[in-house]
Amino acid sequence: MRIVFLGAPGAGKGTQAQRLMAEHHMVQVSTGDLLRDAAKHGTPAGLKAKAVMDAGGLVSDDIVLELIRDRLSAPDTRKGFILDGFPRNVAQAAALEPVLAAVGQKLDAVILLDVDLDSLMKRLTGRRTCSLTGKLLNIHYSSQAELDACTKAGGTLIQRADDNEETIGKRLKVYRELTEALVPYYTKAGLLRKVDGEGAMDAVYGRLVKALDVG
Ligand code: AMP
Repeated sequence: MRIVFLGAPGAGKGTQAQRLMAEHHMVQVSTGDLLRDAAKHGTPAGLKAKAVMDAGGLVSDDIVLELIRDRLSAPDTRKGFILDGFPRNVAQAAALEPVLAAVGQKLDAVILLDVDLDSLMKRLTGRRTCSLTGKLLNIHYSSQAELDACTKAGGTLIQRADDNEETIGKRLKVYRELTEALVPYYTKAGLLRKVDGEGAMDAVYGRLVKALDVG
C-alpha cells in the first residue's frame, strides 16, 4: 500500500508508522527523519534545514522534494510505503503526483490522525527517543519498565531539539496554516480516511489497521 500519514505534530504518525512497519513490513518514509539525518551528516541542505527545523518552520519545498525523490526511487519502496510528515502543504502534495507517476505508483489512502490540542502538547513535551534503539517513548505514557529498558542497557532518553514549548507552538501554527489545507485536498481526491488518534497507542493502532483494512 501507498499511504500518506497526515496529522498535527504529536498526533502519533511516527509511532504508528513504526508499528505498521514492524507488523506489516511497510516502509516508513519520514521527511523529518531524513532531514535530521542530513543535518547530522552536515550536508549543505541539512545544515540549512536544521536552522528552520529548530525554529519550528517548514524547510523549503526544494530540499524536501529532492529527499523524497531520492528516497522513493530506492527499490525497497517499490512495494509500498508510508509517507510520514510529507506532504506538509498543497504545493508539496501537487509535486508528489509526478514523482509517483514517474515510478508508476499512486496513493491508496491518506490517513488523518485526529488528536486534540491538549493531548498533542502532552505527547510532544514528553516525547523521547532511546539513543540505542531509536524507539519512540514518552515520559508521560510509556511504562517505567520500557523507559528503564533503554537506560539500563546503557542508552539515554533523547529529547528532540524542536520539542520545547515555544517551538511546539510554532509547529502547531504551521500545521493549522499550511498543512491542514491537505484535508480538503485529499478529501476531494477521494483518499482521506479519518482515524481517531486519541487514547492509548494500541487502541489507535487497532482503529488504523481497520481503516486501512490490513487486519
Ligand atoms: P517531523 O519529524 O515530521 O515532526 O518534522 C520535524 C521538522 O522537520 C518540521 O517541523 C519541519 O521543520 C521539517 N519538516 C519535516 N517534514 C517536512 C516537510 N514535508 N516539509 C517541510 N519541512 C518539513
